Amino acid sequence: MPIQTVNPFTNKVVKSFEEMTDKTVDTLIAKSAKTFTEWRETSYKQRADILHKVAKLMREKKESLAKIITLEMGKLIAQAEGEIVLGADIFDYYADNAAEFLADKQLEPKLGSALVRCSPIGVILGVEPWNFPFYQVARFAAPNIMVGNTVLVKHASLVPQCAVAIEELFNEAGAPNGVYTNLLISGKRASALVSDKRIKGVSLTGSEAAGASIAAEAGKHLKKSVLELGGSDAFIILDDADIDKAVEWGVIGRINNNGECCIASKRFIAVEAIADEFIKKFKEKLSNLVVGDPMDSKTELGPLSSEDAIVHLLDQVKRSVDAGAKVLIGGKRMDNPGNFMEPTILTDLTPEIPAYYEELFGPVASFYRVKNEQEAIDLANDSSFGLGCSIFTQDIERGKSVADKIDAGMVFINHPTWTQSDLPFGGTKGSGYGRELSELGIQEFVNKKLIRVSGLSDPL
Ligand code: NAP
Repeated sequence: MPIQTVNPFTNKVVKSFEEMTDKTVDTLIAKSAKTFTEWRETSYKQRADILHKVAKLMREKKESLAKIITLEMGKLIAQAEGEIVLGADIFDYYADNAAEFLADKQLEPKLGSALVRCSPIGVILGVEPWNFPFYQVARFAAPNIMVGNTVLVKHASLVPQCAVAIEELFNEAGAPNGVYTNLLISGKRASALVSDKRIKGVSLTGSEAAGASIAAEAGKHLKKSVLELGGSDAFIILDDADIDKAVEWGVIGRINNNGECCIASKRFIAVEAIADEFIKKFKEKLSNLVVGDPMDSKTELGPLSSEDAIVHLLDQVKRSVDAGAKVLIGGKRMDNPGNFMEPTILTDLTPEIPAYYEELFGPVASFYRVKNEQEAIDLANDSSFGLGCSIFTQDIERGKSVADKIDAGMVFINHPTWTQSDLPFGGTKGSGYGRELSELGIQEFVNKKLIRVSGLSDPL
């Protein structure tokens, strides 16, 4: 895939970038490894000062940075600004809390004394997706830099200007050269980097195919990996749900980020008693969205990120319809130069139909009717993914008991799956392993070193 900015609203190439040569990449890895030997000696305070500066700069430059996001991948401008603030919050959060999260843990062994100390492990490679170009990088880079690791970031080829802008923020914040390094290379060269002896761990957010490729390399070379992959979140509406709330959140959950969100609500599962009311209101709201220019603050649904993305989604819809799915609304590409997909609802889905199991990355909702709560749980779990899930009910204890039975990394009651710096993020099954954000996210690429002290007079 060429590394270039293509405006998804017009499909015109805005700017092209040269891929880095192997020699340049080698020099940058060497620099990162050298910097690690110094960075690991810095205090938490020194690291935090840099991250706080990055966060401050992000807030100051919010408007201009958001415009790059919208230009490169089509996110609505208000959401792009929100992403910059969220990214800044993540940098501040780890700057404020890392020392406490990584503090020595005293043990109480039978003999002598012992503690577990968190030590950095070295250069960590992050392979990142285009759909949240600043937030994704923040949740990988902030904890690792606080640990004392240095990071190499191979960002998605669709967002090179975002990638460059993030590195510039670190430079402007005074980060020593090599603490944060942008690698401008294509995805097919990323997996090969994992074998490099100087790289000690790898984290990938993206598709299952890319995750499998990275994990295979990591396994072969005995390196730790974290994978944040796709999802097909169920959105369960139980018979006692507040239907209007469920409809409002359902639409937001499906179309946030133009539907290109790993934790988007993708499979709407309504129990029979309220299914008619839900689908009538959901359909009406989804049909009336203002579709248009993502730079226009009045727009509610923008274009998909690339021509490839819309071609893939249209193909999924076509294959599903050919196999027996019904299109309740939408289903087609809109007649304009951008990558616009009509808001779509598919019904009558069975396990033989592609949309039943595949992740639909765009404004296409799947709708299912089930008899009761148990059928809703069974259907929600009939997925190779296990990222998030939403349950709508007015009985919170009931919601929690349903949550217990859901095979997903995150379950939200009366809200679509969401994210914030102090909540762990990650999935199970085909959605990957490991966690980002919160205290859990900082513990992934850490050597939890046992330090055991024996008394000189202890028996031999
Ligand atoms: P993708 O194609 O897998 O791209 C993600 C990153 O991986 C990009 O930097 C890409 O580089 C790189 N890459 C591609 N092929 C690779 C390979 N064989 N080896 C190593 N790296 C490779 O994913 P996408 O389609 O752009 O992103 C959407 C997917 O990401 C969806 O499935 C979505 O659900 C998932 N996602 C998950 C989370 C989460 O937290 N769980 C968050 C966001 C997105 P190039 O761009 O150069 O190809």
